[in-house]
Amino acid sequence: MLAFSLVSTVEPRPPSKKVLEVRAAIAPPSDVKKSRRIFVNRNLRMDEIELVGFDMDYTLAIYDQPRLERLSIEATLRKLVEQRGYDRAILGLEYDPAFATRGLVVDRRCGNILKMDRYGHVGRTFHGRRALSREERRELYQTVRIRASQARFACIDTLFALPEATMYATLVDFLDRRGKLNYNQLWQDIRESIDEAHRDETLKRIITADLGAYVERDPDLALTLHKLRSAGKRLFLLTNSLWSYTNAVLSFLLDGVLEAYASWRSFFDVIVVGSRKPDFFSGKEPFLEIDDQGAPHGKAGSLQRGRLYQGGNIGDFERLAGSSGDRVLYIGDHIFGDMLRSKKSTTWRTAMVIQELEHEIGLHERLAPRVARLEAVERRLPILESEVTQQQTQLRSLQKLRDTPEVEAARRTARELLEDLRDQLRETTDEQAKLEAELQAAFNPYWGAIFREGAENSRFGEQVEDYACVYTSRVSNFLAYSPTQYFRSPRDHMPHELG
Ligand code: IMP
Ligand code: MG
Repeated sequence: MLAFSLVSTVEPRPPSKKVLEVRAAIAPPSDVKKSRRIFVNRNLRMDEIELVGFDMDYTLAIYDQPRLERLSIEATLRKLVEQRGYDRAILGLEYDPAFATRGLVVDRRCGNILKMDRYGHVGRTFHGRRALSREERRELYQTVRIRASQARFACIDTLFALPEATMYATLVDFLDRRGKLNYNQLWQDIRESIDEAHRDETLKRIITADLGAYVERDPDLALTLHKLRSAGKRLFLLTNSLWSYTNAVLSFLLDGVLEAYASWRSFFDVIVVGSRKPDFFSGKEPFLEIDDQGAPHGKAGSLQRGRLYQGGNIGDFERLAGSSGDRVLYIGDHIFGDMLRSKKSTTWRTAMVIQELEHEIGLHERLAPRVARLEAVERRLPILESEVTQQQTQLRSLQKLRDTPEVEAARRTARELLEDLRDQLRETTDEQAKLEAELQAAFNPYWGAIFREGAENSRFGEQVEDYACVYTSRVSNFLAYSPTQYFRSPRDHMPHELG
């Protein structure tokens, strides 16, 4: 019979004095600053959660994004030149690290990158780094129904993928200037080259040689894991990274941080590497037991603390772990691999780590006066428009009257008023456009905020709402909350039930 043993052989010792001091210094939830809060889409009762799982990359491990992007771009370009015959000149082009954001969609047929709103309506669109006009967009994307899931499109879903969009835009511009270009082939070449850079260890060799430069050590991470364990939760690691890389990154982040934990491995009751998400959530791949060198030693019949596993699938995991469905909380960063697939195949609860939140919330707070001004301007615009219409009507009525000195005077006044109102309308419209552009540029000059497109939620914002029960900027934000916290959604009413 397949046995499961998640029972800790080593119970964590009580935390040291230093740990208790740090913990005491941590603010209670009501005082948590907004950028470090946990936001709730669907009610989540932590007291009902038995098993808490963690993805590694961009979840436990927060990367220095600009640095990792630079590295990914360099490695990919080198492969494009050396293995696919691209002109060496592409190595010297400027790749703007601020170009791409999560949630963008690449149109491989036309060489465009676009942002969609929640309804699949295509908003901002760039060909290379030239913004398409409203008419161009309408012609391309509003005469037929567009779905990001169509083969013609590719989605930029993870922070690992941002450099792909940046390279695509820059190379579309560069190659367009040299004649006709097969946009689909260019996308495929970039995709395959960066994929290879991940798989052949080009990137991982450089990152592991200088982890401090690429991975941020979060001082609260170990405490957060400890707090969950102390409350009786069992923790598991489920990462697509393979053993040697996982071991290097997590040793860097967690080894020697808390006295009670001999190594990072002691924080977790089950360790699964090379999990092949999203297939983990729908496939039948067996769990393999691996040794400390990452070498497989046959199929695993149980998932034991202190041992290492590779591959696997959700059915076996739940059976062997003895916890399933909504007793499991999985924390990840990838909307498709970690959130969507797990939500569609299981009833696991989900928490999404969205690194960009800290920056976006910080900006919202800093720009609050500008946002308030924009809202005031937007309220004023329809009033002015209606005043202009009324004044036009009045002038038309005056023009129908017989000419007398009084009527002439009234017409003059009405004309002056109309001119004045039109001036105000022009100025207010200009101010609105200027403020809007200013605010959007503060988030990202090309794409604006990641959660919004025009007046709507962006496609990405909608997916976060649909598939993440809660979301937050980093794992250690859980430290400020009780491990039995009842995370309540503010939106348990439909609009018609309010007020
Ligand atoms: P996780 O987020 O911990 O599950 O791990 C993500 C893993 O996927 C990391 O090891 C990345 O290097 C790897 N990865 C990210 N993008 C690609 C890709 O395009 N091809 C292959 N591996 C990738
Ligand atoms: Mg990840």
